[in-house]
Amino acid sequence: MSTLGSRPDPAPYARPGGFPVVGVVGGGQLARMMQPPAIALGLRLRVLAEGPDVSAAQVITPAPIGAADDLEALVAFASECDAVTFDHEHVPTAGLRAMAEVTSVQPGADALVHAQDKIVMREKLTELGVPCPRWARVGDRAQIEEFAAQVGWPVVLKTPRGGYDGKGVLVLDSPEDPAWTTADGWFADWAERGPLLAEEHVPFTRELAALVVRSPSGQAAAWPVVETVQRDGVCHEVTAPAPDLDDELAARLTGIALSIAGGLGVTGVLAVEVFEVVRDGRPTVLVNELAMRPHNSGHWTIDGSQTSQFENHLRAVLDLPLGSTAARDPWTVMVNVLGPREIESRHEDLYRSYLHVMAHDPGVKVHLYGKEQRAGRKLGHVTVHGDDLDTVRARARHAAAFIAGEIDE
Ligand code: ADP
Repeated sequence: MSTLGSRPDPAPYARPGGFPVVGVVGGGQLARMMQPPAIALGLRLRVLAEGPDVSAAQVITPAPIGAADDLEALVAFASECDAVTFDHEHVPTAGLRAMAEVTSVQPGADALVHAQDKIVMREKLTELGVPCPRWARVGDRAQIEEFAAQVGWPVVLKTPRGGYDGKGVLVLDSPEDPAWTTADGWFADWAERGPLLAEEHVPFTRELAALVVRSPSGQAAAWPVVETVQRDGVCHEVTAPAPDLDDELAARLTGIALSIAGGLGVTGVLAVEVFEVVRDGRPTVLVNELAMRPHNSGHWTIDGSQTSQFENHLRAVLDLPLGSTAARDPWTVMVNVLGPREIESRHEDLYRSYLHVMAHDPGVKVHLYGKEQRAGRKLGHVTVHGDDLDTVRARARHAAAFIAGEIDE
């Protein structure tokens, strides 16, 4: 018997001891990093992969192949799982609803839409009274200029759906900005689908993220608020906890994230990415983005916290009690290993870098995702934790830079 109901056994994927089978749609690194805690908890993890060699399909086998918008593949996959969750947010609502007919889907379609569509997200957060950048729906150039007349230039233009790592985000500095060519292309592409999102350009002092997890029965937990640093729209470095963060603001931000999780009915991990800004001489926050799955801003929790975001995500998906989110050390720094832009500086393969990195610093934890090197691609990350922030940061930066071939000693 499964703990979650009386569905038939998902042959040929037997459930030894009746432990539940958790399915993950999407075979990226997030699905891959769910495997170690699944093994520890004795869960069976399955993945619906985009192809045979994707990151998670290398370690979670056998992995059926299916696209995230293939209704038949989704339902066939879901019917073999006791609960289904996600590696990304790109499963269309129809697919989510069809899977929910045959199994438990976490998070559900009604919550997930807020992480899929930035306009729906802005509408809901505004309704909940969550502080956001000023925003508008825009259907053409004239409407952007009208919005800019209220909030000033630059204006940030976003495609509501399908963006990630800064793709689908455009800064327009003025009515003469050459980036208008791209904006015009987006308007043409989106003509049938609806308006784009325009936002004021927030003069933030830094970016922060609040990571929380919530189970279907409503238990919730929060990790310490972190500082994130992006390069070209891609997360580069995360420091936990965020240095010099006002206690009251950290508590308020955690409260905002928990209230979003409750207000939207999120299950599993929710990452709330925010801008820290100074208003009337005091730091405050504006919410930028939501992610309803384990998130890059939470990779530090694997080594740096009592329970990782991946383990707590699985616990939440199965409505199990959540694990402690306390940090192991005063400071943890996670640095992403991004594919080098210069082909000449690449290691022939990343494994070549291990000898140096591991001999140099036995305290560095290396996580690689089994991906081929491509410029700017997230290939892995390293984590270091300890008592002194400057040292911890320098060690993590050194290891990531060496693996990525940016330095050679
Ligand atoms: P994605 O969905 O691709 O992650 P985001 O909406 O998070 O896109 O934007 C990517 C990055 O662009 C943010 O991390 C931030 O650095 C910058 N950005 C986004 N929106 C704004 C804004 N309104 N003002 C200033 N910078 C922004």
